[in-house]
Amino acid sequence: MARVYNFYAGPATLPVEALQEAQKNLVDYEGSGLSLIETSHRSKEYDAVHTATIDLIKELLGVPSGYSVLLLGGGASMQFGMVPMNLMPQGGSCDMTLTGSWAKKALADAKKLGTVHLVYDGGDSAFTTLPDPASVQSSANSSYLHITSNETIEGVQWKRFPQTEAPLVADMSSDILSRPLSVDQFGIIYAGAQKNLGPSGVTIVIIRDDLLERAPDSLPAYLNYRTHAKSGSLYNTPPVFSIYMVKLVLEWLQRQGGLGAMAERNRKKAALLYDAIETSGSFYRCPVDPRYRSDMNVVFRLPSEDLEKRFVTEAGATGMIGLKGHRSVGGIRASIYNAMPEEGVSKLVSFMSSFAQAHA
Ligand code: PMP
Repeated sequence: MARVYNFYAGPATLPVEALQEAQKNLVDYEGSGLSLIETSHRSKEYDAVHTATIDLIKELLGVPSGYSVLLLGGGASMQFGMVPMNLMPQGGSCDMTLTGSWAKKALADAKKLGTVHLVYDGGDSAFTTLPDPASVQSSANSSYLHITSNETIEGVQWKRFPQTEAPLVADMSSDILSRPLSVDQFGIIYAGAQKNLGPSGVTIVIIRDDLLERAPDSLPAYLNYRTHAKSGSLYNTPPVFSIYMVKLVLEWLQRQGGLGAMAERNRKKAALLYDAIETSGSFYRCPVDPRYRSDMNVVFRLPSEDLEKRFVTEAGATGMIGLKGHRSVGGIRASIYNAMPEEGVSKLVSFMSSFAQAHA
């Protein structure tokens, strides 16, 4: 089997064991005589998958009682609108941190629905740093404060989180389940699945139950968190195949030793890359403040755009794909989510060394 090392930012590499398990079951799901994706979402077969997925998320993240785990469609992008629609009353306000491209999109949607106080604007630093979490406070009467725990495009990641008066809402699309965290610090955590969790198509929302009561009845049913909490995320047909894949990935994560072990591996992989950049005699350059460098998306530049193009092409020829930085910022981006093995990162590091020697 010729699998390449896949550094795409999302959809992203998945554990091969999870893919093989899905392949084995695709045509005949566990001897049922039909595929899970042909099975009613009200069947006992699907129900077991649905329930196990929610339970695994709760177990791995240590979700305390008083929180609901929802499995929704619409991508993390839909949460940019659903959070303000559900949490902010008409004429209300919220606080946001502008830390990069994804925070910017969340901000644009929130502005359509209420008043937004910007409590941090990283635009001046071209989004290469973050505020000290201790300095981030919510403003009076704010419905919530929103952060993006990991900016997938700029490669900046909150290492600790602000403690705020207003409920803290976090877009964790690109680092959920990469490290342990205290869910009780948050009012809402949401994440599209297609980086650390599985394929695209399902979005995880973890919401503190008292916040479910804020949603106005005037919201269309699907856009109201209460609808999904009440129906156990079976109000309508859920993305069954994506959810099944998420379950397989979560089982793999559990076999790896859970979030503590995963965080250690992720830090080690990221350190290998950042060290390679720092010791390259400035052939490679990471623009991000060392305090906030992402363990998930490692971004760096080469001496010229021409060399960056060659880097991507030559890496591709040796079986490492997806290294081109996001089109809005350029450069190189190595996305090294949970499922990227250390060998993939080591291979990239040795490629970086020989490429630098050849072109310095
Ligand atoms: N937030 C972050 C941090 C992301 O990385 C992404 C996707 N790359 C999104 C939101 C949007 O996710 P989706 O495509 O699932 O809407």
